[in-house]
Amino acid sequence: MSKKTEYSLFQDVCGFVDEAARHMDIHPGLLEQIKECNSIYKFNFPIRNDDGTYETLTGYRIQHSHHKLPCKGGIRYSDQVDEEEVKGLASLMTYKCALVNVPFGGAKGGVSIDPKKYTVNQLEKITRRYTSELIKKKFIGPAIDVPAPDYGTGAREMAWIVDTYEAFNPEVINAKGCVTGKPLSQHGIDGRTEATGQGVFFGIREAVSVEEDMTALGLSTGLRGKTVIVQGLGNVGFYSAKYLSEAGAKVIGIAEWNGGIFDEKGINVEALKKYQNQTGGFKGYASGEFIEKSKELLTYPCDILIPAALENQITKENAAKIQAKIIGEAANGPVTQEAERILNENGKMIIPDMYLNAGGVTVSYFEWLKNLSRVSFGKLEKRYDQEKYRKLLGTIENATGEEFTDEEKAQLIQGASERDLVLSGLEETMVNAYHAMNKVRQEKNIKSLRTAGFILALERISVSYMDLGIFP
Ligand code: GLU
Repeated sequence: MSKKTEYSLFQDVCGFVDEAARHMDIHPGLLEQIKECNSIYKFNFPIRNDDGTYETLTGYRIQHSHHKLPCKGGIRYSDQVDEEEVKGLASLMTYKCALVNVPFGGAKGGVSIDPKKYTVNQLEKITRRYTSELIKKKFIGPAIDVPAPDYGTGAREMAWIVDTYEAFNPEVINAKGCVTGKPLSQHGIDGRTEATGQGVFFGIREAVSVEEDMTALGLSTGLRGKTVIVQGLGNVGFYSAKYLSEAGAKVIGIAEWNGGIFDEKGINVEALKKYQNQTGGFKGYASGEFIEKSKELLTYPCDILIPAALENQITKENAAKIQAKIIGEAANGPVTQEAERILNENGKMIIPDMYLNAGGVTVSYFEWLKNLSRVSFGKLEKRYDQEKYRKLLGTIENATGEEFTDEEKAQLIQGASERDLVLSGLEETMVNAYHAMNKVRQEKNIKSLRTAGFILALERISVSYMDLGIFP
């Protein structure tokens, strides 16, 4: 159990897996093997502060599954980080990757600190020291285990990680692939920053396009006019809210740890984010109502509720009060197993985390491939003869009678940018995975998308384990 509460994310994930296994013919021994974490590395390390004081910090890297290598998963900086949390998050990564067909085993790491309390200088020291601990124990490397951003970390930390890794591993070819979510200058990929929110958008768009599901919820199909409340305006929450409002949904509530905003007329997501960046919160924002007890916003009426912060947010305490018809889990583990039962009884639709936030790891996969192949994606112009393309376009125009505008011609000649490729790959992944999951739900005649998602993931993981056999 977690040191903070009786709640354990890992136990919840295992519970979801057990529920899925009840609909499958899977050997109990194999199921046990799949559920457990393969390697747990917990370590303490000191930092010296500028004022001469010392602190001992605790770090983790937990590899849930080695059935596909490398392992993959983010690094979290939060004072809630402990072994149970990291185990739960690592295990979710395994199922998430399997569901979207990204060939990695699951892992997760973290340092138990509140990053807001540290200077950039201290954070760099912590990140580099953390990375060196992983290097010492061979818990990082492009073929071993590849971290990425998570709650409390971003591209900046990933740059420090790759720099530290390269310093200690000059002989490793393709060392850039030791971490994803890097800045573009450090061989990151265009679109990774927005990827999780973009994936959340694609996932919700697919869910609301299924007519029979929407009819059952008493909703029309499509995003236009749907009211949305988001918890968390960090990277994932911000981009989810931005893309949903750009597609015509109305974001009426945004909750942050230090207060929320409710505005029935609709919130300008970008303006609110700018205000938050300037002032540290929403207090004093010109429009809408400031909500001091922001967690209450989760229970306000809306069509779609998007928890995009941390786990354990919708629990048995508030589940019965949730008025939203669709809960889109942009965060990992925001709905506990007990809460899920209540929400299901109340006829809610839950779009599960293992699917909905898989956009991040999907684009991480593209970044890793780019780093291994050492090519930059996109822009055919660099590699092909532009004149040949211009002539080809002329032939098409003559043959079809269709005329391209100069802008269209320029685009066709230039080819797709890296960003276009990333976006289309992400969209295809999210669309296919949704319908694959939904098909399992229909075939097995079950209500829960989560159970369907876990069944699909477990099927794929168990085939992989069986084919691998047992060593020795
Ligand atoms: N931290 C993200 C997640 O929970 C991304 C992981 C990755 O890109 O490896 O899925």
